[in-house]
Formats: sequence, C-alpha cells, structure tokens
Amino acid sequence: MAKTVLITGGTGYIGAWTVKYALEKGYNVRLSVRDKKQTAKYEFLQKIAEKSAGNLEIFEANLLQKGSFDAAAEGADWIFHLASPFTLRFKDAQKDLVDPALLGTENVLNAASASSTVEQVVLTSSVAAVCGDNADMKTLGVEELDESHFNFSSSVHHQPYPYSKVAAEKKAWEIHDAQNKWKLKVINPSFVMGPSLSANSNSESLQFMKDFISGKFLMGAPDLFFGFVDVRDVAMAHIMAAENNEFKGRCILVAEHLNMVQLSAKLKPFVDAAWKLPKAKAPKFLLKLLAPLFGITAKFVEQNIGHPIQLNNRKSKEMLNINYRDLNDTLKEMLDQM
Ligand code: NDP
Repeated sequence: MAKTVLITGGTGYIGAWTVKYALEKGYNVRLSVRDKKQTAKYEFLQKIAEKSAGNLEIFEANLLQKGSFDAAAEGADWIFHLASPFTLRFKDAQKDLVDPALLGTENVLNAASASSTVEQVVLTSSVAAVCGDNADMKTLGVEELDESHFNFSSSVHHQPYPYSKVAAEKKAWEIHDAQNKWKLKVINPSFVMGPSLSANSNSESLQFMKDFISGKFLMGAPDLFFGFVDVRDVAMAHIMAAENNEFKGRCILVAEHLNMVQLSAKLKPFVDAAWKLPKAKAPKFLLKLLAPLFGITAKFVEQNIGHPIQLNNRKSKEMLNINYRDLNDTLKEMLDQM
C-alpha cells in the first residue's frame, strides 16, 4: 500500500519539488493550502499529479489557526512540514516571521499527535537554526559547524528569520520528546538555489537572485558568505529522510560555500547584462555606515561581513545518499528560467 503523506508549504519553492517527487514515487499526497479558492497556486501540481503514479488531494489549513491541520493529518502516515515564511521583507518580525514559524510548527505537530495514523514528521528547518551570525563559528572556536550546533545568537530583534527557524526547530524537538507516537526528522538546508516550479513563491531564494542580477550590488557586494544547495537536492533529501528508517536527528544540506563576489563570478557566463553583477567587495566600514539605508544593522555587519562559514555535509551524503548537483548547473538553470 502506498503511503499517504501530508505536505505543508507544497505551493512554495522547495515544497513544490517535494510534492512532485512524492507524486512520482507513487505516494498519496495531501497538500495543505491556505485558501482552496486560490487555485492558481496549486493547479500546476494537479497537472503534475495527472502524469504521475501518485494521487493529489487538497486540504485547507493555516499555520496560525489552532487545529487547522487535524483533518489533513488524520489518515496520513507521514507529514512533511515545509510551510513557513522565508522572507527578509517584513514589517513586524514577531507577527510576520516568528508566529507563523512557531505556532505553525506547534499546530502541525499537535495534529500529528492527535492523529491515530502519523508515524513520522520531516520538518524543514535551516542552517539558520545551526548558526545565526557567521561570526558564531569564531565565538565557538570551531573550524566548521555540524548537526550538533544550534543557533545561539539570534533574537526577534537581531536576525529574526534565523530566530524563527531555531525557535521552531527547538519547539519541534520539545513536542517530539514529550510523546512516543511519531518520529521527528529534521532537514537543515543552506541557501537554496535552482529553478522554481511554483510561479507564486515569495521565497527569498528567488527574490535574492532577482536583486542580484538586477544591479542591486552593482557598486560592490557585501563580503557575505553563504552555503548553497540545489532546490531539487533539498526536496529529494526530504523524501530520502522519510524513507530511511536508520536516519535520525538533523541533517545539514550544503553543496558549496561562496561569498557574494565569488557567486557573481559564477553567474557571469549565464546572464546577458553581466555588467550589473558586482565585481568587488563593498568596504565593511561603508556598509556599517550605510547599514540603515539597506534595512540592516551595524551589529549585523559586524557579526557577518568578512566572516567565512563552513558547514559539514557528511551526514547528508552518508545517510541520505545525496550526490550534490554541481552549483554551476543549478545557477545556470535558475537564470535560464528567470
Ligand atoms: P516559499 O515562500 O516558496 O514557501 C513557503 C510556503 O509556506 C508556501 O507554500 C506558503 O503558502 C506557506 N505558508 C506561509 N505562511 C503560511 C501560513 N500562514 N499558513 C499556511 N501556509 C503558509 O519558501 P521556501 O520554499 O523557500 O521555504 C520553504 C521552507 O524551507 C521554509 O520552512 C523555509 O524556512 C525553509 N528554508 C528555505 C531555504 C531557502 O533558501 N529557500 C533555506 C533553508 C530553509 P502560500 O503559497 O499560501 O504563500
């Protein structure tokens, strides 16, 4: 019998690929959407379902409503919980980022506990739940970060998105540890890149790339380091984590580490208006001075600019058999689409 899987956030950038792979593998997929009437957000997934071995059923649920996921969870064997806002463009950090991440995780996991069927939950956390500021590595005195590390430096006032992710992941482990019905598996992707199936996603992955190739950093890019990973590797890692009974705990996903000037060099062959890409680093003192104009704080600049980051991906290769896509191909396909 094919497993029945509930996927939250399936209308989004990573979620849509996860739905596609689950359908192709023949799972009965339950997709939760905020508003069933907004069919444009999920019609493309129904078309994929028509050509796939699995079935697709649509449920309505909102992260902020208590009990919202109960009906979709009852009868599901597994839950993939991806829904959470990933944006740096918000008005109220608590209301726009932390509440949906934290209350959403509570609602989804409580639905798992209330159901008579759910065996496991795969939660999409982030490397932002491993590390808040890039300078954290120096503070800890380590050469690289792995699954044993938790973000200790973020708050609702400083780095609120990373805070939303670490708060949600910690809450998930707390709820998991208080019951014995279902297992929890956590995926911690770095910055996700690659083509999008969803035309409606507000993911910062897509916004960042649009800004980057449109000249936002033309005068110089902050010396900011990221780990990068392909969206399809991330989606498949969710499925592999669920299918592997030996997999436990958390798992960092990262293919390559680059700063923004190195990213720019990689993008150059794939864009028409290459002159809009940054060629040099913006000086740190200038960034500190101009930080408020860019909506960032001097503390953010101090704790992140010029601090390399190194994330360990050994577990993803050993436990989830991830053979990372070449980042050049990932970026080319993303830009071809854009
Ligand atoms: P998207 O913005 O594309 O997807 C977010 C999804 O969450 C959408 O399906 C959205 O639904 C749903 N959602 C948001 N708010 C609510 C709500 N109140 N109720 C129900 N659903 C809601 O982002 P990504 O695909 O990039 O991110 C997916 C997950 O991956 C998030 O948990 C994010 O933190 C995590 N992540 C992302 C990384 C990245 O680089 N992209 C890196 C590491 C982790 P709707 O279509 O209705 O808006």
